[in-house]
Amino acid sequence: MSFSFPVSETVKSKLDKLGLHCDEDLALHLPLRWEDETRLTLIRDLIPGHSAVIQATVQNTEILFRPKRQLVATVSDDSGQLIIRLLNFYPSQLQALQPGRLMRFSGETRGGFFGLEMVHPRFQPVTQDTPLPSRLTPVYPTTAGLGQITLRKLIDKALSRVDMSETLPASVYSDMGLPGFAESVRLLHQPEPDIRLTQLDSHDHPALRRLAFDELLAQQFSLRLAREARAGKHATPLKPGGHLEQALRDTLPFALTSAQEKAWREIRRDLSTAHPMRRLLQGDVGSGKTVVAAMACLQAIENDMQTALMAPTEILAEQHFQKLHGWLEPMGIEVTWLASALSPAQKKAAISRIESGQTRLAVGTHALFQKGVNFQKLGLAIVDEQHRFGVKQRLALSKKGLEPHQLMMSATPIPRTLAMSYYADLDVSVIDELPPGRAPVATRLVASSRRDEILQRVRSVCQSGGQTYWVCPLIEESEKLQLQTALDTYRTLQAQLPEIRTGLVHGRMKSAEKNAVMSAFQSNDIQLLVSTTVIEVGVDVPNASLMIIEHAERFGLSQLHQLRGRIGRGSRESVCILLYQTPLSEDARSRLKIIYESTDGFEIARQDLLLRGPGELLGARQSGVPLLRFANPEKDIDLLEIAQKRTPQILKHHPDAVNAHLARWFGMQTALAAG
Ligand code: ADP
Ligand code: MG
Repeated sequence: MSFSFPVSETVKSKLDKLGLHCDEDLALHLPLRWEDETRLTLIRDLIPGHSAVIQATVQNTEILFRPKRQLVATVSDDSGQLIIRLLNFYPSQLQALQPGRLMRFSGETRGGFFGLEMVHPRFQPVTQDTPLPSRLTPVYPTTAGLGQITLRKLIDKALSRVDMSETLPASVYSDMGLPGFAESVRLLHQPEPDIRLTQLDSHDHPALRRLAFDELLAQQFSLRLAREARAGKHATPLKPGGHLEQALRDTLPFALTSAQEKAWREIRRDLSTAHPMRRLLQGDVGSGKTVVAAMACLQAIENDMQTALMAPTEILAEQHFQKLHGWLEPMGIEVTWLASALSPAQKKAAISRIESGQTRLAVGTHALFQKGVNFQKLGLAIVDEQHRFGVKQRLALSKKGLEPHQLMMSATPIPRTLAMSYYADLDVSVIDELPPGRAPVATRLVASSRRDEILQRVRSVCQSGGQTYWVCPLIEESEKLQLQTALDTYRTLQAQLPEIRTGLVHGRMKSAEKNAVMSAFQSNDIQLLVSTTVIEVGVDVPNASLMIIEHAERFGLSQLHQLRGRIGRGSRESVCILLYQTPLSEDARSRLKIIYESTDGFEIARQDLLLRGPGELLGARQSGVPLLRFANPEKDIDLLEIAQKRTPQILKHHPDAVNAHLARWFGMQTALAAG
């Protein structure tokens, strides 16, 4: 894949950063916004804060050295004067701005100390009759060192060379009233000035809808094909035997909820077929996914196959290990722990037990799927909090041995629109009911100025036998700062609550230290646990009933919901206190209101999706899921529904067209998406 015209190595590396590798990519690199440079504005009519184009003569140009070296020119037209300021400039720019020259300047006006000015406008020499552009000027997403003008030229060139003929038969679009592909792409790059910009911005323009629809079709095709490919693959069927399952049930101090039973029936059925299962087990925090996973694991063991259970953090993996070890070891089943933090000798021993097949269940972090770990007979892979793993790690997993069945678990409920789009290749089971006897968590919003009252509350909860989580503020920009804040918080709380046994846990601790702290908290030797978000997923200490989250306004909604799910697991009345810093922004206020008013993970996820887009929810930043660029499953739900409905017919009758369409939309990404 490359460009059909010469591109310098420097520019190529910039384009690479933008994910643009060929003509087709350039053609689909759409503007962020458009500027209207089709009309001239008189200097007199400039409005601070607005962009405009003026045509003016340079009166005077000088280099000032205070406060720092900069170029300042005064320009004028018949209506008035304006300052042009360049804080960095090339000799060629100084040369261009010679007094007497007629220039066209385009940029945002602002009020400066000496009157109105434009800082770093785009400019070019003109004559009185240089024509104005007849179309809007696109402004593209770019990266440092790649200017708009260069990018625009490259895109224009690509547009003139790329094959933009229709990939799919016209019948696919017949009743939708959408424009053609080529027409849509051209229009979006260079719209006529009379187009309604608001319509472009708000996603309602038919040309944008056309591209969104094409993209959604491409996504449906690839996921559907992945599903079909899987149905054609062979996996070892894991027949339900039942004696181990029954043995586990006999030892559990509770009966499964009917929602757990239903999910389990679906999983059991999938496991027993000769095709690899890809099922997502979804259930709100605390709904009891682990025990269902344990039963799946027992079914693999009854069929003489191994299971691997992978969790995204060491704390979570360790907890799974403890729990499963506790359940399975009494049945004579060997469970092995594997994480990167083990000593080389321990690791070697663990790996050899996995390879010999002596170990029936291996629990660990991604270390389980690194090179050098070979399962003797891997029948089932269970991935907890699957959205936290990268696509690549998931692929590595399916390459271990033959196709194992896969069970993915997630406590982040996936709204319907996302399930229909990004997860269309998976089957989904939902545990939509919490075990009985859980006291609901009450949520309070408290200004951080009332910290003293909160300390009082922590003291009284701990002294009456309860336990507390204290979650430190999230500092996304700097892990170092985050760590420092956690340490400071820990020391302050220790000083303020000397009679309470306080502990600290954070992501940078050695795993032995971390485990020591977590097990001390488990046994109530630590009453107050100060932590970063490492406790976000999976941690299960039912006696903890109070959680304080500092700077709650900095967290995402789903993240707050996850954190809050750490309490309300026992019979104590549980309270989650969201401390916030005043003044709250409008946006922060509305987010906190949602978490305050709702305890329903689905509703919260839906709101989060609306507020922040799918990237966060899908964990795309970590996982590199190819995100939709044009379509928004929530806003374009009508298009998504049509795409989904028409996909089976198109796949059946027009396989070649489908390939062409996928190549256009995903290029090299297709291979990844289809895994
Ligand atoms: P999650 O779905 O968040 O992973 P867990 O599997 O950790 O939830 O379960 C949360 C807690 O509820 C655990 O202590 C677990 O043993 C307990 N639990 C699971 N199922 C039931 C049930 N049916 N009745 C009572 N408690 C249950
Ligand atoms: Mg869990």
